[in-house]
Amino acid sequence: MTQSRGRRAARTKAKIGRRAASRRAERRAPGAAELVRAAKQAMARAYAPYSGFRVGAALLGASGRVHQGFNVENISYGLSMCAERTAVYAALISGERQFRAIAIATDSPNPISPCGACRQVLSEFCRDLPVLLAPVRGRVRRYTLKQLLPAAFFDFPGSKRPRRA
Ligand SMILES: [Zn+2]
Repeated sequence: MTQSRGRRAARTKAKIGRRAASRRAERRAPGAAELVRAAKQAMARAYAPYSGFRVGAALLGASGRVHQGFNVENISYGLSMCAERTAVYAALISGERQFRAIAIATDSPNPISPCGACRQVLSEFCRDLPVLLAPVRGRVRRYTLKQLLPAAFFDFPGSKRPRRA
């Protein structure tokens, strides 16, 4: 075998290895019910002593990992942070930037959809994404990020937006 053939074979082997790893991640990826469970689990740990309104989020990364977030309130109300954004930031900290779905759970009888700021932050990393809204009991509502934010802010003249966030 020539050296270039050997290198080609090694590259092919590495490519197959990456595909297999991606298929494994696909198989491991939790389904909607599991994602909602993870969001409810996060909600139970939310820090919401002022409003008493707890929200949990579970963001499914392309790797198959689930990144949880919850709302964090502050006595200076304006400093409070939403569950969806804490989930995005937790995912970024662990090195994940591509996402497949998000579940948002509340302890309210009605499903609550993400605020405008969270929609924009999510759209920075994925132009479209299934969004599952889970009330405390009952039916989970499904939307897509594009439905919730059809005209997101993506670009401005001279912006250096990463080609693939
Ligand atoms: Zn929000």
